[in-house]
Amino acid sequence: MSAQTIPQTLLGLSQEMDHVGRQLLDRWDPELARRFTALSQCLQGVAEQGGAGELLRANDELAAQLRAWLKRRRAPDDVLGLRQQLSLVTQLASMPAPVKHTTSAGALRQNHRLFLWAGERDVDSYLIEQLGCFGYQMDVFRDALLLQQALRQHTPGALIVYSDFVGEASLFPPGMPMPCPVLYASPRRDFEARLKAVRSGGQGFLAWPLQVRELLDALVVPQQQDRRNPLRVLLIEDMGSLAGLYSAVLNQHGILTEEVTRPSRALEAIERFRPDLILMDMYMPECDGKELARIIRQQGLMDGIPIIFLSMEKRQDIQLDTLSLGVDGYLTKPVSSDELVVTVTTRARRYRKLRSYISTDSLTGLLNHTHLFARLEYEFARAQRERLPLAMVMLDLDHFKRINDNYGHQAGDEVLVNLARFLRERLRRSDLIGRYGGEEFALVLPGMTVDQAYRLLEAIRGDFELLDQQSPRGRFRQTFSAGLCGAEGVTDVVALVQRADAMLYRAKELGRNLVVAWSADTGAQLPPLN
Ligand code: GH3
Ligand code: MG
Ligand code: MG
Ligand code: MG
Repeated sequence: MSAQTIPQTLLGLSQEMDHVGRQLLDRWDPELARRFTALSQCLQGVAEQGGAGELLRANDELAAQLRAWLKRRRAPDDVLGLRQQLSLVTQLASMPAPVKHTTSAGALRQNHRLFLWAGERDVDSYLIEQLGCFGYQMDVFRDALLLQQALRQHTPGALIVYSDFVGEASLFPPGMPMPCPVLYASPRRDFEARLKAVRSGGQGFLAWPLQVRELLDALVVPQQQDRRNPLRVLLIEDMGSLAGLYSAVLNQHGILTEEVTRPSRALEAIERFRPDLILMDMYMPECDGKELARIIRQQGLMDGIPIIFLSMEKRQDIQLDTLSLGVDGYLTKPVSSDELVVTVTTRARRYRKLRSYISTDSLTGLLNHTHLFARLEYEFARAQRERLPLAMVMLDLDHFKRINDNYGHQAGDEVLVNLARFLRERLRRSDLIGRYGGEEFALVLPGMTVDQAYRLLEAIRGDFELLDQQSPRGRFRQTFSAGLCGAEGVTDVVALVQRADAMLYRAKELGRNLVVAWSADTGAQLPPLN
C-alpha cells in the first residue's frame, strides 16, 4: 500500500481501519493483517501530532495484538479481544474527546421578553398582567415598521405572530431573518393554516385569543426544559474508556450520564438513576446486550424506556433481529458525535414526554398520586438502607373553596399552577413534589432532617403568602398549611404519610397558615422550633 493511498486525517484513517479490520475479523489473512498494521502505524503518526493520548495507547495495544498474531502465523484465537480493541481505536479516532467547558449561568438564563404582533386585534390586558406574574414582559406591536425596528434593537425570547393565514401578508414579516423562535397564534385550527405556519418556520401554533398557560408551555421549548432538567442517559458498555468517551460527548451537550461497565449492575443503576434512555453495547463478556435487553423488558423496569444498541455489527439481519426484542434503535460503531447526540436526544425527549403523560398531573405538571407513591417507596427504602434522613410533607391550601366561590374556578386553577411553580423553584431537583389530590400536595425531601425541612417550609410558606394572585375579579392572596415528619422510627410509607397528614390536620386546627412538625417527644412539635 503506497503512502498516497493512506488517508492522512484521523477520520479517514479510522474509516479505512474499520473497513480492513472488519474483513480481518471475518477472514484471517496475513496480507490483510500487514496492511492493517501499516494503517495502524500511520494512525500512530497522526495521533502523535494531535496529542491524542488515549487513542495512542489503544492503538499501541491493537498493534501489539496484531504483531503477536502475525508472528504465530495463524488466526487469532481471541476474536472478541481484537474486535473490542478495533472498535475502541476506530471510535476514539472518529470522535475526538470534547474539551470540558463550563456554561456560565448567564447563558442559561431564560429570555423573558416577548414580542407580540397583533395587527388590529385586541389584546387582553389581563393576559399581559398574568405573564408579568411569571416574570415575562410582553410588548405588543401593531405597526410592522416599529416591530422591525424593535427586532433590530432587541432579541426577544420569542415573537408571537397573530395570523389568519389569508394572503402573503399574513405571515409576518416576510423574508426577514428571525433572531428568535416564532410562534403563530390563530383562530384557525385547520390543516392548511398549520401547514402554512410550519412552512414559514413557525415553531409553535397557539390558539387565539392567547391563553396564559398555553403560551407559557410553548415558551418552555425542549432545549430549555433539558437545561432545567437535563436528559439522563445510562451507558452500559464493558469498555470503560469507550463509555467515558460517549459520556464526555453527551455531557458536552448537557446530557447527564451514568456509566455501567458490568451488565449485572444495570438493573440497580436503572432504578437509581432513572434514565430517559439506555445506550447499550451489544457484545459484553458477562451477558450480551440482547440478553440484558430481554431482562430489562421482562422486569417491566421503566416500561418502554428506549434502548439503543451500540455495536460494530453492520449486518442488517442481526440489526433487525434486535429490533424484535423491543430495542428501539441501532448505532454502528464507530459513531460520530452528531449521530450519537441527535439519536439520543430525540428519543430520550419523546420518552420523557410520553412518560410525563402518565406520571404527572396535567394541570400542575407535578407527579400524580400513583407515581408520587411509587417514588416515595423507593426513596423511603433508600433512606432506611443508607440510614439517611428523609422528610415527608403534606400541604393543603387554606379556605380554598372560598377562592373558587369568590373568584371563579379558573382563578383557583391558576393558584394551583402558581403554587406548583413556586414549589419547583424553591425545592431541589432531588425532591419529589406531587399533587396528592385536589388542592393538596405532598413533598418528599430526601436527606433532609425534620429541622431543616421545617425551616425551609416556613420560609416557603411566608413567601407564598405574599404572592399576589391575579384574577379578572381582582387580586387576592392565598396561604397554605403544612404538616411534616421524618422517616426515623417509621416502619412504612403509609405510616409516614399518615403522620404527616395528622400534623397537617393539627395546623388547620391551630388556625391555618402554619407548618407543624412531628416530634418524638410530644407527638407534635408546634412552631417555632428552636
Ligand atoms: P381548608 O383550609 O380546611 O383546607 O379549607 P378548604 O376550603 O381549602 O377545604 P375543602 O376541602 O372544604 O375544599 C377544597 C376545595 O378545593 C374544594 C374544591 O372545589 C377545591 N378544589 C379541589 N381541586 C380543585 C381544582 O383542581 N381546581 C380548583 N379550582 N379547585 C379545586
Ligand atoms: Mg463490548
Ligand atoms: Mg384546603
Ligand atoms: Mg383539602
